[in-house]
Amino acid sequence: MATADELRELIRTEGAAVATNTQAFNDGRYASVADLEDYEELKREARAIKEDAIERLPELLEQLTTAVEENGGTVYLADDAADANDYVRSVVADRNANRVVKSKSMTSEELEVNAALEGAGVDVVETDLGEWVLQVADEAPSHIVAPAIHKSRDAIAALFNERFDPDEPLETAEELTRFARETLGERIVDAEVGLTGANFIAAETGTMALVTSEGNARKSVAATDTQITVAGVEKVVPTVADLQSFVELIGRSGTGQDITSYVSLLTPPVETPVVDFEDDTTPISEFESDREFHLVLVDNGRTEMREDDHLRETLYCIRCSACSNSCANFQSVGGHAFGGETYSGGIATGWEAGIEGLDVAAEFNDLCTGCTRCVNACPVGIDIPWINTVVRDRINREKDAPADWLVDGLSPDEEDEGAPLQKRFFGNFETVAKLGSATAPVSNWLADTTVSRQFMARFLEIDPRRDLPAFERETLVDWFADRESTVADPERRAVLYPDLYTNHVQVDRGKAAVRVLEALGVDVVVPPVPSSGRAPLSQGMVATATDHAGRVTEALAPHIEDGRDIVVIEPSDYAMFQREYEKLLDGAAFAELAENSYEILEYVYGLLENGADASALAATEDGAVAYHSHCQQRTLGLEPYTVAVLEECGYDVATSDVECCGMAGSFGYKSEYYELSMDVGDRLREQFQTDGVREQPVVASGTSCLEQIDALLERQPRHPVELLIT
Ligand code: SF4
Repeated sequence: MATADELRELIRTEGAAVATNTQAFNDGRYASVADLEDYEELKREARAIKEDAIERLPELLEQLTTAVEENGGTVYLADDAADANDYVRSVVADRNANRVVKSKSMTSEELEVNAALEGAGVDVVETDLGEWVLQVADEAPSHIVAPAIHKSRDAIAALFNERFDPDEPLETAEELTRFARETLGERIVDAEVGLTGANFIAAETGTMALVTSEGNARKSVAATDTQITVAGVEKVVPTVADLQSFVELIGRSGTGQDITSYVSLLTPPVETPVVDFEDDTTPISEFESDREFHLVLVDNGRTEMREDDHLRETLYCIRCSACSNSCANFQSVGGHAFGGETYSGGIATGWEAGIEGLDVAAEFNDLCTGCTRCVNACPVGIDIPWINTVVRDRINREKDAPADWLVDGLSPDEEDEGAPLQKRFFGNFETVAKLGSATAPVSNWLADTTVSRQFMARFLEIDPRRDLPAFERETLVDWFADRESTVADPERRAVLYPDLYTNHVQVDRGKAAVRVLEALGVDVVVPPVPSSGRAPLSQGMVATATDHAGRVTEALAPHIEDGRDIVVIEPSDYAMFQREYEKLLDGAAFAELAENSYEILEYVYGLLENGADASALAATEDGAVAYHSHCQQRTLGLEPYTVAVLEECGYDVATSDVECCGMAGSFGYKSEYYELSMDVGDRLREQFQTDGVREQPVVASGTSCLEQIDALLERQPRHPVELLIT
């Protein structure tokens, strides 16, 4: 696991380049998918093809083998990396090849083909520009699509000038790419074997789709007489027609291009003649066509992943990198921290857990905060945060359990096995909050003493630079129990869900929500209901979260039956009701709660749309406000409701567009991640410090966003509902 020092160094040396490039990819993705007639339908189509392909994988592999052999090629099904490398080495040896030219392939990285061939005395040349830069620099890729994304033009110029000592120092992007093209062109001409990956392979014909930015894959196999393609078995799709959806999606999702610069559909061995580049007098049509093709289909753990209910979804991945680009933490540290042996970014946990094992996934799994910003970005709809949560749970269970007294006492959870102390503490925050409120203000004073902070830093690894939440003595539930409803003839009836933070810490926003709802004619109740389970789920404590989910639905079901809507303030709890409970509850219980629950500003918007009197809310004449919506809110498409309500009340709203505030629940409190959390937050701080926004009051929907903004800015942020009370 990267230490705080290592993360700090990556932020310093690679963060700026990674952030600039990934954000540019995201901007391109937003613009490019907006041009599609029905982006969501295209994603659903792609997902359905992958689901079908993985379901029928054994049958498709047989069909593919037949098709390739009928074309005159050879198929080798490799059990693991060693098996695949032995086969590749044998083909290269049989060909008497001295040089292999290679296009970019994550599967070949996974196998470590280069090392295997170089160990046999073969010269291996990467022909993708980014991969070649890294080969020259002897570095590992930091991104699955743009491997040298962490390197600036200046750094590449310095590297080339030092390594190749050109007549004139190289400086501009044009000079660097021209130099690379000429150098690589010469090496390709001298090679005997072209080695590629495959983005997709159609079982019906053996046709493979190769998408590249430089055309180097096609050039490498056209210029050599022996083609070897290594591909994971999950790359197989049923038909050539199926390739269309993926070609439409992969460039848009990854680099924000409507279509990747080069899309090659090859059905090897192709009949195109192999050209002798030394001979510039013979017409191309007169060269011989005597080509060999070897397709190495790699299992390497994929069969087990296919049989695993949770890791199976990883096999739908088309390796577009959208989950990396949309991840705020990835933007700061890149794949050299947020990645394993081969794969990086959000989905890397699934790949590394399946291929290398849990210990490799454990190295970086905690960098996923579960913010869900990747969920909508994924072109095949993989629930990446859920895979990360399940793997976190499995990693926890491999560890030694903390002392029994702690588990049975302060940590009343459902984890029989070893979730570590820090995770138990954050996962059981409901217990801490209840204790904190019951003993406030003493608890707040005590938690802020030097001794307590030292204790928490030492044993719980909570960063002392963070302000801890201050608990209210009177909870929202207690406050509400002492009052009468002010609505005589209600338009609607609702439960305001007393989430953990609104009930114990941000009580004022809960009171504001009650008053706003009552002003709009809603009869409100605030019953005691258990916390949603978001806290344990974020720590990978799935059994505990499942227990919470069961108790929450049990407590809310009678109210729903009684005709009440469920209104939620905290976006991450609302997201539990709308997304994660689907994984934790039976279908009917999940559907009932999901269908009857609303985020607070979504609910207010609905009331206003259905005739509620907007004049009952506080209005402003020419107010302006800076608004940061919570990650989960954006994933669920809720941001527009808050903006619309604030605009209805007269506000000019400046909305942030950064991926995340950086706090992400407990993440920003953890000592190893404090600086990363602040680096991510810095992007939000910059947006809210621009001219015209600098003076505006700030509102944010999530508790952790409020805490982070409080730390980043000198303006005390509030929840948007607090602006609406008269
Ligand atoms: S998980 Fe989805 S977004 Fe991430 S690389 Fe795979 S296909 Fe792309």
